[in-house]
Amino acid sequence: MTPLIHWFRRDLRLRDNTALAAAARDSGGAVIPVFIFDETLLRGRFVGAARVRFLLESLEALIAALRERGSTLVLCRGNPQQELLRLLAEHHASGVYWNRDYSPYAVARDTAIKQALHNAGYRARSFKDLVVCEMDEITTNDGQPYKVYTPYARRWHQHLIATGVQVADVPDLRPVVGAETLSIALPTLVDLGLTTTQQALPGGEQPAHELLRTFTDLQQPLSIVSYKEARNLLALPGTSRLSAHLRLGTISVRTCVQAAQNALHRATPPAVVGIEAWLGELAWRDFYVQILYHFPHVLRGAFKPQYDALVWENDADLFAAWCAGRTGYPVVDAAMRQLNHEAWMHNRARMIVASFLTKDLLIDWRWGERYFMQHLVDGDPAANNGGWQWAAGTGTDAQPFFRIFNPTSQGQKFDPQGDYVRRYVPELAAVPDKYMHTPWIMSEADQRRYGVRIGHDYPVPVVDHKVQRKRALELYGRV
Ligand SMILES: Cc1cc2nc3c(=O)[nH]c(=O)nc-3n(C[C@H](O)[C@H](O)[C@H](O)COP(=O)(O)OP(=O)(O)OC[C@H]3O[C@@H](n4cnc5c(N)ncnc54)[C@H](O)[C@@H]3O)c2cc1C
Repeated sequence: MTPLIHWFRRDLRLRDNTALAAAARDSGGAVIPVFIFDETLLRGRFVGAARVRFLLESLEALIAALRERGSTLVLCRGNPQQELLRLLAEHHASGVYWNRDYSPYAVARDTAIKQALHNAGYRARSFKDLVVCEMDEITTNDGQPYKVYTPYARRWHQHLIATGVQVADVPDLRPVVGAETLSIALPTLVDLGLTTTQQALPGGEQPAHELLRTFTDLQQPLSIVSYKEARNLLALPGTSRLSAHLRLGTISVRTCVQAAQNALHRATPPAVVGIEAWLGELAWRDFYVQILYHFPHVLRGAFKPQYDALVWENDADLFAAWCAGRTGYPVVDAAMRQLNHEAWMHNRARMIVASFLTKDLLIDWRWGERYFMQHLVDGDPAANNGGWQWAAGTGTDAQPFFRIFNPTSQGQKFDPQGDYVRRYVPELAAVPDKYMHTPWIMSEADQRRYGVRIGHDYPVPVVDHKVQRKRALELYGRV
């Protein structure tokens, strides 16, 4: 049978891969698996070294998994359209299959490629795989995309109940003679012009399944069972940590949904709320993908365009302090240092630092959006943009602009023992709980006793929250 190309993008797995399974079926297993390092993305403003390293680790695992099945991953670097046309010609393949991606860049690229392949007489088929619900599968009664999460999520759950999820096995693949001769070697991070000291969790299909197995084990005290409450406590590992895997597709969202549904069948009532809350997060993921797809202007400006008139102060020194985790607000600093060290940040912390950047430092949310994309291992244009616009009060479902997080009380509420701060801000390690989120009120004697001089070893707050809160209300009030 004539071979087909499966073009891997953000679906770096063999298990439950819709387009790969279809390519194997339609070619009798004669699939040429291909991954292309897209120069446009590698040079883009959102490129993040930790995410690229995770990608390389995941590719390494994919290469090994394919090799076990007698197949070879063909790696290329360059313009995807040119590379695919070259591979099709050199291998006398009949077409290319891939799983759809929905960012404006991906949509434009894939539409052009589909057209070019058809013009050249090849097959080009794309599949729903990244999301549970396709972009037009859930609409309002008058056929419009949802702009508010709650009714969207209700329909999302109904859709899930009606259709269920099917998880596909690893397809049978046959070696395609000579495919390996077309491949470049797997580049290193440095080969791609990037470096990082961030230490993220490892990439690959196996680690993803291990995380899911542990998280959905009902016997584990900190798992999907306790998710509803534990997910907000900054110092606890109370969430799945699957975000980078879902970002690059080392696990399918259907596998995650199925594991949650299986847990639901075995769960006692208190655990059910945790499982349902977690499924709700997967609905948020779909929700933001469809927002970006239907409203691509959000990558340039506010979802609600009136907020494009906000006049941000954009103080470069304050931005540098925020990036470095040196604002003098311990929970903000711990969060930013977690990001800088681990390429990941707790969701509650993301909300706190995003609110702080926009509403305390009066800095454009797009500065924070870009910094996150460049440093998060799970950096995703849809979820990240959605999160930032939510925090800035400019997006769908936005936190109303007058609701401004107080970084001190957020710290006291979600890190009551200060363990999160102690982990990432060693200067404050010996400070007792009662001063942990307000170290600047310590007397000089206390500062000496607890081994930290405020303004010397650890910064005084770079702004006064009370003052900035008023200024933010004025700024937003003007538009
Ligand atoms: C300002 C800001 C920026 C964010 N940037 C990103 C980002 O770039 N990439 C990203 O994946 N998430 C982002 N989030 C959402 C969320 O913080 C992360 O998905 C979550 O912290 C990842 O950890 P986890 O895998 O343990 O999540 P869990 O709590 O275990 O959730 C399971 C999965 O659901 C999805 N999810 C959870 N919360 C959200 C959400 N609010 N929006 C969309 N999907 C969600 C993720 O895929 C996540 O892995 C952002 C949130 C905010 C407030």
